Amino acid sequence: MTAEPPAVRAGVLVTGTEVLTGIISDRNGPWLSERLRELGVDVATIMVVGDRRADLLAALEQMAASGVALIVSSGGLGPTADDMTTEVVASFAGRELALNSELEAQIEALTAAVFERWPETDREALRLATRKQALVPVGATVLEPRGTAPGLVVPPADGSGAPTVVVLPGPPSELQPMWYEAVGTPAFRAAIAGASAIRREIVRLFGLPEAEIASTLRAAAAAGLALDELEITTCLRRGEIEVSTRFEPEAQGQYDALFEFLAARHGPLLFSRDGSTIDEQVAALLQAAAATIAPAESCTGGLLAARLTERPGASAYLVGGAVVYSNQAKSDVLGVDPELIVRHGAVSPEVARAMADGVRVRFGATVGVGITGIAGPDGGTVEKPVGLVCFSVVSGVGSATGGVRSLTRSERLVGDRAAVRDRATTVAMHLIAQVLHGERD
Ligand code: ATP
Ligand code: MG
Repeated sequence: MTAEPPAVRAGVLVTGTEVLTGIISDRNGPWLSERLRELGVDVATIMVVGDRRADLLAALEQMAASGVALIVSSGGLGPTADDMTTEVVASFAGRELALNSELEAQIEALTAAVFERWPETDREALRLATRKQALVPVGATVLEPRGTAPGLVVPPADGSGAPTVVVLPGPPSELQPMWYEAVGTPAFRAAIAGASAIRREIVRLFGLPEAEIASTLRAAAAAGLALDELEITTCLRRGEIEVSTRFEPEAQGQYDALFEFLAARHGPLLFSRDGSTIDEQVAALLQAAAATIAPAESCTGGLLAARLTERPGASAYLVGGAVVYSNQAKSDVLGVDPELIVRHGAVSPEVARAMADGVRVRFGATVGVGITGIAGPDGGTVEKPVGLVCFSVVSGVGSATGGVRSLTRSERLVGDRAAVRDRATTVAMHLIAQVLHGERD
């Protein structure tokens, strides 16, 4: 029998008919779920409901009945008639709505710009809309509007024992900063009290199938490790395995033993002991080495460059990159010898290496990366099947002494075109990290 740690549970309520009907895809539910997990809160459910009063209320009540301590909602805070979350949450929490005149003035100031751009705007309609958004449940904590709508943290009316509701707007660019503000409020802290005691550790592995981890966990149990106080979840993400473990502080010893077992069995494939991602590690390694990087991409069409620019501050190391899809472009832009392409084919370790060398020199970067492959679904042959991708990473760190280090690899990646291209960027990130760690062919 497993004794999982007692958890503080939460529900996420995503509102909006456009999300329910699939017109836009939900970006808030998964995002909020991850943030809650980071806080040690167990997400019991994510529900998506349309803009209907009865459905919103039913969803809140269903979550409450399942025993969650917290509900986080997204959407439905705007000024129009289909925006009704605040009103429904107030009635759910048993709290009256009251006009917050300070908030009304604040929203009025925010909407003043509307008149400058659209002088024809109906002032009376806007005044009513502003008033609607300034109506908040008595006793709720107001989160400063990022658009025009305030967010709310609404505790249950005294003694009811119902969950606290965090009410956030729908646009992700507004929801995300307001979430962090909500987390800091005393009402939020009170709702999740107890969650912070739960520990959560993440390790990441790369280069082994998910089934291997399952067999490692069986082997750990067979070796007599006590795993019953640990809640272990494994998942495959972008070609990497994430092992996430939750436990109470008393089970720290059990976790440490599990970690040693994983490390001993999988050695260098366990690339992250502290939950850091390969993207974070590459960024840190490049900065620590004061190195710059430039990718040359064929089958990934710029996805590696895009991945390298995802993190703020990327300009400290990313110089630029080249998308060189045709043979002509590989030669013209990067100086890849056309003879080499004829001899080995565009998808070959030799051409990947020449691309890495070429882009490194053209951009004057410390590290050059070449990626060339067959993403499919067509274009595969017996010798070069769909999914074959050749990588080369060349680093001129220490070039003062004339040394370059390189790693060149061919991998057969599985999945459809999108999966092969995405997986290729993950392989490239790992090869970059390995070269920066000093590995070479
Ligand atoms: P607004 O004041 O902009 O109307 P709101 O809080 O009322 O904000 P909604 O009306 O539910 O939010 O959604 C407004 C817009 O925000 C949507 O049209 C959509 O572009 C975006 N949005 C809402 N919910 C989501 C979601 N779950 N995932 C991604 N985008 C969303
Ligand atoms: Mg709206």
